Amino acid sequence: MTVTAVSTFQAPKGTYDLLPPDSATFLAVREAIAAPVRRAGYGYVETPGFEHVELFSRGVGESTDIVTKEMYAFTTKGGTDLALRPEGTASVLRAALQANLHRAGNLPVKLWYSGSYYRYENPQAGRYRHFSQVGAEAIGAEDPALDAELIILAADAYRSLGLTGFRLLLNSLGDKECRPAYRAALQEFLRGLDLDDDTRKRIEINPLRVLDDKRESVQRQLTGAPLIVDHLCEACKEYHERVRELLTAAGVAYEDDPRLVRGLDYYTRTTFEFVHDALGSQSAVGGGGRYDGLSEMIGGPSLPSVGWALGVDRTVLALKAEGVELPLPAATDVYAVPLGDQARRTLFALVTELRRAGVAADFAFGGKGIKNAMKSADRSGARFAVVAGDRDLAEGVVQLKDLVSGEQGPVALSEVADTVKERLV
Ligand code: ATP
Ligand code: MG
Repeated sequence: MTVTAVSTFQAPKGTYDLLPPDSATFLAVREAIAAPVRRAGYGYVETPGFEHVELFSRGVGESTDIVTKEMYAFTTKGGTDLALRPEGTASVLRAALQANLHRAGNLPVKLWYSGSYYRYENPQAGRYRHFSQVGAEAIGAEDPALDAELIILAADAYRSLGLTGFRLLLNSLGDKECRPAYRAALQEFLRGLDLDDDTRKRIEINPLRVLDDKRESVQRQLTGAPLIVDHLCEACKEYHERVRELLTAAGVAYEDDPRLVRGLDYYTRTTFEFVHDALGSQSAVGGGGRYDGLSEMIGGPSLPSVGWALGVDRTVLALKAEGVELPLPAATDVYAVPLGDQARRTLFALVTELRRAGVAADFAFGGKGIKNAMKSADRSGARFAVVAGDRDLAEGVVQLKDLVSGEQGPVALSEVADTVKERLV
């Protein structure tokens, strides 16, 4: 077989399709992450898949990898500069500001979202160009309980999925009182290291990001780097201590990671990441923090806020790595196999009735013979097959076969729905 470079049937590099049966796990993960935030008063927000490119260059940061290297930016035929969204926070904040949600007098505005994000990355296991996140943002309040709430909700989401191998890393980045002095101290330290030109530039624009450099040659030199924890002002120390107390009280374990950073000035105080050790180098399953300066950065009023985004793709990989099978509802409970024309009409009507009664039901379409139809019934994963021919229908019954035990017997047509419902529980 010849392999062509680009095939019509080939998804673009760095992307993959979600197909049954695996797609059911994906949906269940999204729902499991959303459930705790919904119970905590977060309302659903949906924003466009693309925004003005400037929202991200300001709201994610001109000097970040996301903006400089990873963004799918394009100019429309009408001359507008847009970008596929690489993350959710800037869009959600933009939407809240545009709709004046922050003026409705009920702060914080709590929102959650779920969707596709796009980054031009180097594709590898757990790192894709199209991926999926569920996120939550609490806009317009500064309260350690709010930071703790969000972290607890994320930890509860992972726990509810049955994951045990994740760890929570926690740090504080200080605020406009204490960060400038720390930034200067860090810059002074970094300038004395043996680094390449790009990294040297980064020291001047975005020194905290250098701490996040994954290269061994850089990490080796960072051993004696000044740490923000030694530079926090009293207010930041106190705030961080309150967050930690609340996490501990909620039974959420964390590890202090004084190197955990987000590189931009509008990220303040609490910052955290959830990592899963079975995922190799793409170990971050989710992360977030406080972004008190972001609203002003995109032209809004001062609105201290905090949020997180959890990666759905990597959470699914973490489940696989731990061998966790989610308890998914059966796609089909009853599979109907008609023998003959009259039976086709009757069983098709029965399938409709079953579905309306809340039973997942499917039908042997395409006029297959009984042997094929029974194979399809098995493949569908249904617990029961309903088989009927002319003779059964003349007696007002169908044959109900339990595909697990193999037991089979006649059931009155009018009683199929009730019988099946009883036996399914
Ligand atoms: P990384 O350090 O792995 O690049 P990040 O800091 O860029 O992660 P965030 O922007 O904080 O990630 O996004 C939150 C979560 O979204 C990540 O923890 C991860 O689970 C997921 N994520 C980010 N980028 C990708 C990607 N390219 N493919 C799959 N999942 C991703
Ligand atoms: Mg990244």
